[in-house]
Order: sequence, then C-alpha cells, then structure tokens
Amino acid sequence: MIRRSFFAALAFAAAMPLTAWAEAPLKVVATTGMIADAARQVGGDQVEVKGLMGPGVDPHAYRQTRSDIVAMTRADLILWHGLYLEAQMEEFFHDLGRKRTVVAVAEGVEKSKLRAHDDYADKYDPHVWMSPVLWRDVVVEVQKALTEARPEEADIFAANAQVHLAEIDQLAAYGKQVLAAVPENNRVLVTAHDAFGYFGAEYGYEVLGIQGISTQSEAGLNRIGTLVDTLVDRKLTAVFVESSVSDRSMRALIEGADAKGHDIGIGGELYSDAMGEPGTYEGTYVGMLDHNITVIAGALGADVPDRGMSGKLSAGF
Ligand SMILES: [Zn+2]
Repeated sequence: MIRRSFFAALAFAAAMPLTAWAEAPLKVVATTGMIADAARQVGGDQVEVKGLMGPGVDPHAYRQTRSDIVAMTRADLILWHGLYLEAQMEEFFHDLGRKRTVVAVAEGVEKSKLRAHDDYADKYDPHVWMSPVLWRDVVVEVQKALTEARPEEADIFAANAQVHLAEIDQLAAYGKQVLAAVPENNRVLVTAHDAFGYFGAEYGYEVLGIQGISTQSEAGLNRIGTLVDTLVDRKLTAVFVESSVSDRSMRALIEGADAKGHDIGIGGELYSDAMGEPGTYEGTYVGMLDHNITVIAGALGADVPDRGMSGKLSAGF
C-alpha cells in the first residue's frame, strides 16, 4: 500500500512540472484595451492578458509606468498597436524589441487599406479599430503572434479567431444597416479629435474632428470657427464627445453655434481611443463599436434597437 502510493506520488511528481509547463497560460501584455480584447478572444484560456491602458486613457499621450515595465519584462509576448498611435512609447518599444518578443499588430494591415492625413505627414491614421472590416486584419495579426509564441496551441487559436471574426462580421453588417437608415444630409460626424476617419470611409459619413489625428495637436480657434459655420450652414444639430478626450473644445463649439442662434446638442459619448469599463459589454471591442454605431445612428435620426445589436448595451446610453 505504502509502496504503491509512493510510486504513484513519484509518477505524479514527475508528470507535474511538464503538465504545469504545458498548461501555464501565455503571459501577454497589450497596450490598448482593443488589442487586449483581441488577445483574450483569440487566446481564450491559453493566455493571461494584461492591458496597460484602461477606460478613458488616451493612447496618443500615454507613457509607460514603472509597473507596466515590470509586467512587460515578465511577459512572454508584448502586443502594441504601432502606426504611431502610442507616440510617446515608440522608442521604448523599439528598444524593448531587441530583448523581448514585441509585435506592432496594426502594422500588419496592408498599407493600401490605410488612410494618410494632411496634418500627419509620412504617417498613417492609426485608428483602424473604428472599422470592423479593418479590425479583422488586426485580429488575424494577433492570432499570428499568439501562434508564433505557442505553436502547439495553433488549432485552439484558429478556432477562437474564427468565432470572434464571425462576431466582427455580424457587427459590420449591423453597422451598415443602422447607419444607412440615417437621413443622408445628417451623415456627418463631429467629434473632439479625428479618430473616426475609417468609420466614415466604411459607412459613407463625413467626419469632422476639432483636433487632428492625434490629441496632441492644438485645436485652433480658426478650426472651431470653421466648424461652427459648417454646423450652422448645414443645420446639423448633434455633435459627439469622446470618453478619452476632454470635452472642452466641444463646449466651445456648442457655445459658438449658440451665439449664432443655432442650437446644438451632444448626441452622446463615444468610445474613440479607449473602451468601456472592464467586465462590461462596452469593455469589449464588439460592445465598444456596437455602442458607437448605435449612439451615432440614433442621435442622427435613425431608428435603432434600444440596447444595440444584440440587446447587450447598458440602458440609457
Ligand atoms: Zn486618437
């Protein structure tokens, strides 16, 4: 009896480290919430993901903290966006890439699909998550990076990616349907900064940001004056604030229009560069976009389902 349990224990002890090693989740650190979500969706139980930027955090301005650096030195894989989104961390990631596995997932998107911008010379618009069709490509890049880090889980990652991509396709179709229900002359999106270019291109909306592609650029008084004229001339009545950008310049815009006797309301708060609270539907990529699509279409005059695409949005958005 004693002998038997001794051998059983021995066999168990011998098997233990191997099992533990094979089953320890891959440690992934991701910069934005959107990338962290993609890694969680594709990685499933095989990954342990830490997102560096929480709700309301502006990636254009973000700098790594001491605890971020600790997390990254312990990670098996580090995913960042690239395309100059994390402008303050660009150098840091290039340095880190010499020592760790670091992948800029948005840089895998074919350059012909990216938007250039006048006030952003030699760079592309980084806000690719605003188009579900483009974000698909980023999810595939995340899948590739996870697979390279742990080839033995390739089949699981592929199966998870397929499920998530199907959800994203459903989201893209929902967006097409409800945004096309907005009266044509209302298809103008006025926001705090120029984050919605890919959204506009995908759904046929004109997009006017007070600030440029980066929140680090200054919103000039001239720009606000021009936008006020546009709003008044075209009888537009709704503008949108962003969860990760101060609404100060939006207030100036509304006051400017008011001084000309034109009443403008806030159509809602959009998730531009950061997602909602972790653990909520809006704290996932699909929920974030569902929220934006539903709020925009609803505020600009379409009939939209109360709780969005699949009835999961928080009430009272
Ligand atoms: Zn932005």
